[in-house]
Amino acid sequence: MSTADRGTKDAGRHAATRLRPGAVARTAALACLAAALPVLVVSPGPAAPAAPADAETASAARSGAGAPADTALTVTRDRGYPAVAAEELGATSLGALRREDQRILGQGPGGQTLEMRPGSPFLRHGGRVYQLSNAPYLEDGRAWVPAELVTRWLPETTGSDEWEVDGRRLTRAYPFEDEPFRVIIDPGHGGRDPGAIGPRGRREKHVTLAVAREIRRALEDEPRVEAVLTRNRDTLIALQDRSEIAIREGGDLFLSLHANAARARSARGFETYFLSPARTEEARQVAMRENASVKYERGEESPDLNDLQFILADLDQDINVRESSRLAGYTQNQLRPVHSGPDRGVKQAGFLVLVGASGSMPAVLVEMGFLTNPNESRWLTGDRGQDEIGAAIADAVVRYFEQYRQRLAGNHSGE
Ligand SMILES: [Zn+2]
Repeated sequence: MSTADRGTKDAGRHAATRLRPGAVARTAALACLAAALPVLVVSPGPAAPAAPADAETASAARSGAGAPADTALTVTRDRGYPAVAAEELGATSLGALRREDQRILGQGPGGQTLEMRPGSPFLRHGGRVYQLSNAPYLEDGRAWVPAELVTRWLPETTGSDEWEVDGRRLTRAYPFEDEPFRVIIDPGHGGRDPGAIGPRGRREKHVTLAVAREIRRALEDEPRVEAVLTRNRDTLIALQDRSEIAIREGGDLFLSLHANAARARSARGFETYFLSPARTEEARQVAMRENASVKYERGEESPDLNDLQFILADLDQDINVRESSRLAGYTQNQLRPVHSGPDRGVKQAGFLVLVGASGSMPAVLVEMGFLTNPNESRWLTGDRGQDEIGAAIADAVVRYFEQYRQRLAGNHSGE
C-alpha cells in the first residue's frame, strides 16, 4: 500500500475481500481477463479474531459484525480456496444447487439451467460457458462450489446481490450502508514520462496530477465518497500497476486522467473512454498514444499489446463495460458546462491502463482537453481551469454513485 495515496481518510476496507496485491501477477491479470470471467482471488481471512493489527483486519472484522447471522454461510478452504456447500446456496438469490450423478445443477438467473461438473472450472448457464478460477468438488457426499460463484459470477450476471467472503463465512454485503465509495483517481504519466507536451513546455503529467488533487479536494466534503490517488507526486507508475493499485485499494471505480494531443493545434474538446475495441481510427490513435507510456517502463515484463486484442474481444459481455460507459456519460455531462471545447463524446478503445481495473470495477479514461490547443492548454494548466475540471469530475463521480446506489437499493427491496 505504499504507492497509493489515500490522503487523510482511512483505508483498506474492501481489500480483505477483494483482490490482493501480490495475488495477481501482471500476466495473470491479462490472461484472466481474456476468460469470460476474471479470476477472483480471495485472501485467506484472519484465522482468529485477534486484535486488528492493521486497517485491513479491522475492516474485515467490521464488515462481519454488521451482517445478520441468518444470511451467513459457512465457508471451507479444504482445497485452498473458499467454497460453500451447493445445497446451502438457497440462501442466495442463485438458489440451491443439487447434485445429480456427476453434475451440479440448479436454476440460475433468468430461470435458466445452471450446470457445473466436479473438477471443472467451467460453468454452463443459458447457453453460455463461463470459467471460474476454481472448480467445484465432491466431499463427504456433498457438492462444494467455489464461493466466487456468488461473490463474483452472480453479481456480474445479474448486476445485484453482492456477497463477500469474510473469513470463514459468506456474508451478504451491503456496501452502501456504512462504507463510503472509494474512487481511484489515476493521474496519467509522471516522472520521466511527461505525457503530451503543449506550448511553453506544458506537460500532461503536471495537469493530470493537479486535477487529481482538485478532485480529491472536492470530494473531501462528500462523506460517502473518498478518493485515493495512484500517485501524489511526479513519479512514474507502470500502466498495469495503476490498475493493480486500484484493485488492491478496494476501489469502487477507477478514473484515469489525461490530456489530449493532436498535430492540428485547432483540435479541442473533451472525451471519455471505456475499455472496448476502438470503433474509430481516431480512438485507436488516442489509445496507442496513451499506451506508448510503456516505453518508459523499465521492467521485467513489458506488457504484450497483442494480448489486448484477445482481452477486448471477450469484454463486451462484462457488466463493468456497461457501468463504465455509464460513468463515462456522467463525466461528459458534468464537464460540458465548464469546458470551452466541444463534447467529443463517450468513446471506446483499448487502453492498457484500464485493463486490470476494468475486470473489477467501472473504469474510464478522461481526455480532459487538448494540451496542444493554445486556449485549452492555458485553461488546463491554470488554477481556475484545474479547479473547474476537478469539481466537475468529482460531481460526476458523486452522481454516478448516487444513481448506482439507488439502482442497487431497488434490487434489494424487490426481495
Ligand atoms: Zn495521457
